[in-house]
Amino acid sequence: MYRARLFAIRHSGAFGWIYGRLERLMIALDPVFARLGYNRVERPIALVERVVKGVLFDCRMCGQCVLSSTGMSCPMNCPKELRNGPCGGVRPGGFCEVRPAMRCVWVLAWDGATRMQGGDRIREVLPPVDRSLKGSSAWLRVSREKAARLREAREASRTTLAQAFPGARRNEPSTAPLAEEPPSAVNRGQRR
Ligand code: SF4
Repeated sequence: MYRARLFAIRHSGAFGWIYGRLERLMIALDPVFARLGYNRVERPIALVERVVKGVLFDCRMCGQCVLSSTGMSCPMNCPKELRNGPCGGVRPGGFCEVRPAMRCVWVLAWDGATRMQGGDRIREVLPPVDRSLKGSSAWLRVSREKAARLREAREASRTTLAQAFPGARRNEPSTAPLAEEPPSAVNRGQRR
């Protein structure tokens, strides 16, 4: 597993790209999930997420995935579970203070972030872990939230148009002036 984790961090650019596509797919599937019921799809999707991310990233299913902000290095693999950078005990060569055979997840995170699009996000302070989300699917929660925000934005733009319409009607003539009829049409009408 540790080797797979190092592989994922070495290829963080590709994994970040795949993650982006997966997120788009999940957002597109929002109407399907809504129809089936998010509560119903939670368990199977969380199971798939647990297996896939467990193999690739040693995922601990914290429920608030931050891999795209941490160079695809899962911070929950830090023995101290630090979410915002390393502790002061990193050993020479970037090894962990608690598990000397393991490289510090934050040293790896910094390395992975340099290869990722938007890798600068590693500088942003992450919120503390909400333990109540442990075991839930981060994929599903994030895509559901983003889909809801997109829906709200679409609804807001529709409302803006609807509100702007009465004003536009007041300022513009409600009907366009009649255009000249082409002679052929007039003649045809007279022949009938
Ligand atoms: S940040 Fe959380 S959800 Fe993401 S890989 Fe680590 S434990 Fe899993």
